[in-house]
Amino acid sequence: MIVSKFGGSSVADADQIRKVKAILESDERRRIAIVSAPGKRQKGDEKITDLLYKCNSLVQKGLTCRPVFNEISKRFVQIAQKLKIDDKKLSERLDDIRCKIDAGRGADYAASRGEYLSALVISEFLGWEFLDAEDVIIINQDSTVNEATYQRLKEKLDPDRNYVIPGFYGETEQGVVKTFTRGGSDITGSIVARAINAELYENWTDVSGIYRADPRIVENAAVNPELSYKEVRELSDVGATVFHEEAIAPIHEAGIPIVVKNTNRPEDPGTRIVPESNDFGPTAVSARGGLSRIRLRKLMLFKKYGMRHALLTMLHIFGIRPSYSLFGIDSIVWFFDSKMANDSVCQAMCERLKKEFGLDSIEVDHGHAILGVVGDGMSSSDAYLQTAMTLKENGIATTFVNYGASDSSVLFGVKEADAAAAVKAVYSRLFG
Ligand code: ASP
Repeated sequence: MIVSKFGGSSVADADQIRKVKAILESDERRRIAIVSAPGKRQKGDEKITDLLYKCNSLVQKGLTCRPVFNEISKRFVQIAQKLKIDDKKLSERLDDIRCKIDAGRGADYAASRGEYLSALVISEFLGWEFLDAEDVIIINQDSTVNEATYQRLKEKLDPDRNYVIPGFYGETEQGVVKTFTRGGSDITGSIVARAINAELYENWTDVSGIYRADPRIVENAAVNPELSYKEVRELSDVGATVFHEEAIAPIHEAGIPIVVKNTNRPEDPGTRIVPESNDFGPTAVSARGGLSRIRLRKLMLFKKYGMRHALLTMLHIFGIRPSYSLFGIDSIVWFFDSKMANDSVCQAMCERLKKEFGLDSIEVDHGHAILGVVGDGMSSSDAYLQTAMTLKENGIATTFVNYGASDSSVLFGVKEADAAAAVKAVYSRLFG
């Protein structure tokens, strides 16, 4: 059996949903579809999930969500009418959801309704059974999947029937609706694939696979025919967003292959993601921007055992979870997502750290990016040297190097303003 997940752009309107039907019906092994909420139909359009979060924000401010929710209703009713599905029942459901959002059911409930309604409409259009994620997917407080989920799915899924399951959400052990992080329908697909031990997990999107570089930066970038699980996770970590990085974990042990395919060009082969790739050496380059840097100094810091840990704990108290670190004899450098703390939080944190730990200096600055060259077997290739030389030749200063921590990537810190130029130059050197 094949589990097929369709992202927001694949279900953005009635025409896209017709393509989904054609894909599902072209191979009878496709028995379970996981769907996202309708995404953008064109540039500048809004995703249903974003509108639902807006609805919740209005309610938080003591206002009604009605004006924004009307937009959502209009889109779903239009889809239903174009697909010739009974829109009366749908309208009743929409009213009920709007009342619940207005009554303050919270952000997770509001956001989850995009996938819920999408799955209802698509199941009716296909004549497939609707299985609510709330009844099968149990999400722990820390957003990981509760192991009982797999048993529930096995019990609920009849191998002789076809199902549509909404992605992105489930419920807590206490029965409250909870979502994964953004883009989390990929995780739902992966959980379902593992539960039924699928032969393949298809991830349908609006690009023909995972590119060797972001095609918005490198025109005509090539698609990777195959990547390993590890390479995909490394790539997500440095900004490639095609496949959610947490979606590998559920199928890791089962070793189920994934294929990323394009709903608009189903004939394209896409990218296969397999437990271990046969290709060694660099496969892709990507950059993740929006990072800030903390630099702190204290004489003989490396001899003050336990201090690194205490400093890190303090960072956590201020909501900062660093992604990349460098340690010197008298200094530490951490990079973190700038969204984690605004300027006043950073200032308060610096003052407290300086005082409590007797630091010689501490500074925070913004506008950093991490450039990653990804590929299994990195240590036996010269990609590290090639990348360093390319950056130097292009006048791009580096602020950080991480080589050797993983055999599947080498990371360089660059200024965010240089990130696109760095990706272009490195792509052309390694893959051009
Ligand atoms: N609709 C959700 C989002 O926009 C989840 C998903 O599409 O995977 O993040």
